Amino acid sequence: MINLKCINHDTEYEINNIIHLFEPYIEGDYELESVYEKNLATAKLIKEDNVIFEKQSPIDEADTELKAKKNMKLMLKETVYEVLYQLTGKAMPWGMLTGIRPTKIVHDYQKQGINEATLREKFDKVYHISQDKVDLMIEVAKAEEEILSKNKQDEISIYIGIPFCPTRCVYCSFTAYSLEAKKNHVETYLDALCKEISFIAEAQKGKPIRSLYIGGGTPTSLNEAQLERLLNHIQNVFELEQIEEYTIEAGRPDTITREKLEIMKRMNVGRISINPQSMNQKTLDAIGRHHTVEEIKEVFKIARELGHDNINMDIILGLPGEEVEDVAHTLEELKKLNPENITVHTMAIKRASRLKEELRKSDEMAYQLAQAKKIEAMLDLSQQACRSMGLNPYYMYRQKNMLGNFENVGYAKPGYECIYNVEIMEESESIIAAGAGAITKMVYQNGERIDRIANVKSLEDYITRIDEMIERKREGFMKYR
Ligand code: SF4
Repeated sequence: MINLKCINHDTEYEINNIIHLFEPYIEGDYELESVYEKNLATAKLIKEDNVIFEKQSPIDEADTELKAKKNMKLMLKETVYEVLYQLTGKAMPWGMLTGIRPTKIVHDYQKQGINEATLREKFDKVYHISQDKVDLMIEVAKAEEEILSKNKQDEISIYIGIPFCPTRCVYCSFTAYSLEAKKNHVETYLDALCKEISFIAEAQKGKPIRSLYIGGGTPTSLNEAQLERLLNHIQNVFELEQIEEYTIEAGRPDTITREKLEIMKRMNVGRISINPQSMNQKTLDAIGRHHTVEEIKEVFKIARELGHDNINMDIILGLPGEEVEDVAHTLEELKKLNPENITVHTMAIKRASRLKEELRKSDEMAYQLAQAKKIEAMLDLSQQACRSMGLNPYYMYRQKNMLGNFENVGYAKPGYECIYNVEIMEESESIIAAGAGAITKMVYQNGERIDRIANVKSLEDYITRIDEMIERKREGFMKYR
């Protein structure tokens, strides 16, 4: 265990995140002193009153207070990373980067005019990021830049959330309600949602919409009539022909029917997701998915027959009981289906998940450690497999509590990259979100300022307090016009 003492600074939270990375590899108790003095950061690791490792690094000067603070934090973290690396001998693939948007750093440095060679050196020497992750980060940042450079003045994207799922997956921490338990609320939820969507369309009239994304939960847990009602409403209030990308994250194959796929096609949905997570039956059973591998293939086949020509498939690495060979099997099966997008997620044990509840603290450490080793191999394999299918990485993000501190990566065939995914990650245009638990992000001054307008999470509260949610939005929109 590490007992942290910060002297002359308040970077405790960020440093604790670095300590958290090394926790599974640390045995015994230590004191860690992190000291800030003018232009100098120092970390000392102390065991029974003796300094066993020490690192000092100079802090770059800066022309503004904000930049000076950033530089200070960076080097305080760097020195702590270095002493913990010396203690454990464990290099982290993402070095000391703990944030969820690694490519944002690339874009930030590029805005400051830093060239690629200097950037690579910084990522290596200061951030201690491994070479292959630096390559990935830079490749993804370039792909994102292609998309972001086409953003227009005042353009927005829209998110619409459907918080129902047929059953709850063991690893889930999203706002998702079991349809079985809440089926009486679906119609009233749609009433409230359509009201909020109408308000958004009216309030944002005249602004170009680049992408519209219906996510969840599982949007296709709505029945055919409900889905048609929602899509009809969207068609009536927005000018769909001007929207560049329209996605429905259909999600779980057991909720997708031929008729729903027909409705989506008829209503001009251009991109759908059919998410298997794994193509191994034993895993689907273990994670609480009540459908078969054959059903996934069948649904995919029907979608193709109906002309859906931009399909994403999500998989998760590190699912309970899966080995590298199981992931290899999943990827081989996906190769046969030949989707335009594959999104590779790394299993994260989220605070609100059932899995977290089931693992006691000590079990969780051992579990994390064992999984981390496998996941590295699974990630390599999935990258090779996606590239062999002609899919290139175009967006990525990381989560807290990810096993082995890894990443989630979206791969796409050239020209099929999901615009919404990039916009939400890079926060370069406003995303107006409707539905229970949805968070609107208003982006100003080229991303320098972001304001959030949150809806309540609870389904019942959202339905009964819909006028208040709309009022929150109205005030938010007015404030920053
Ligand atoms: S399908 Fe997604 S949102 Fe629904 S329970 Fe599973 S992980 Fe959660």
